[in-house]
Amino acid sequence: MMNLVGMSLEEMEEFIRSLGKERYRARQLFRWVYKKGASDFELMTDLSKSFREELSGIARIGSIREVRRLTSRDGSATKFLLELEDGERVESVLIRDEDRRTVCLSCQVGCPLGCKFCATGKMGFKRNLTAGEILEQLLHIRKVLWREGEEVTNVVFMGMGEPFLNYEQVMKAVRLIRHEMGIALGARRITLSTAGIVPGMERLSKEGVPIGLAISLNAADDATRTELMPINSRYPIKVLIKVAEGFSRIYKRRITFEYVLIYRVNDSPEHAHRLAEILKGIPCKVNLIPYNPIPDVPFERPPDERILKFQEVLLSRNYTATLRDSKGRDIQAACGQLRASTRGA
Ligand code: SAH
Ligand code: SF4
Repeated sequence: MMNLVGMSLEEMEEFIRSLGKERYRARQLFRWVYKKGASDFELMTDLSKSFREELSGIARIGSIREVRRLTSRDGSATKFLLELEDGERVESVLIRDEDRRTVCLSCQVGCPLGCKFCATGKMGFKRNLTAGEILEQLLHIRKVLWREGEEVTNVVFMGMGEPFLNYEQVMKAVRLIRHEMGIALGARRITLSTAGIVPGMERLSKEGVPIGLAISLNAADDATRTELMPINSRYPIKVLIKVAEGFSRIYKRRITFEYVLIYRVNDSPEHAHRLAEILKGIPCKVNLIPYNPIPDVPFERPPDERILKFQEVLLSRNYTATLRDSKGRDIQAACGQLRASTRGA
């Protein structure tokens, strides 16, 4: 059966044409699926009853199923474990931050890059998600928010997987998230996080899609970074910084550098100074993320005073350095952790 979620307007027009209906029906359908979030053809009262019945015989609107939901004690984060049609599971997170309601999306089941500190990396790579599966996560969480009388304000690709290793489907999802007849979120409210896949970064900078770019740097020297993120041997820090600079120039946007702080691995004041050196002249902000422990990995979260000291060094050198902390620490809100802890559940 045809899944309407993930279809572009052009694809819906093609679908409608194949049914011998008027072209404007596609626009109605598009609005029902993406703007109004209908999950049932019965609701589409501006379509005739017979057409609705015809549609429900050949098409469906999504298939994702919520398996588990966990909300942090302070209510700032809700994590969803979602099951795809083939039984694979991904997680998505809703983060409530003052006036922001940010949905964090997964783009792959697992991840092939195998970063040492990452639960998703530990589980290996299963498959890419389709644009539809990416959008279904968003539509599902938007519906949860609607029931609370709230709206999604931001979307980040920071869940499971590496967006630039699933470029086509991620960008298709981005285009649909931006589409003004549908979800209609501005490019400035969408951010993609990458482990530093240079060809992807270059491709995006030529795409004319000015979404935010976050780079998971996590170390200020190649030896440490390669140790943590094996992909660094292919795309080392110097190259990343150069491409990041180009990206920020083309889109006139600051780049976000994410930096997971791991005790005695990359968290000393010297490391912070080194980071300040390599980012010199790049319009950027640094997002510090204290390491969230995962099973069977010997890394530790640094003590608070070390975290604050690291931040202080960056601030004293005139960087914007925010601390992304504690949101959902008690619900394992780091990348891939819920999925990993419920395997076989
Ligand atoms: N693959 C992309 C996007 C998903 S990972 C990327 O690597 O950027 C999203 C973020 O979670 C990355 O910045 C990563 O460094 C961070 N992360 C992964 N595991 C973590 C952990 N155990 N504790 C804290 N942050 C983690
Ligand atoms: Fe993949 Fe990102 Fe995890 Fe690295 S940090 S393994 S790139 S999801």
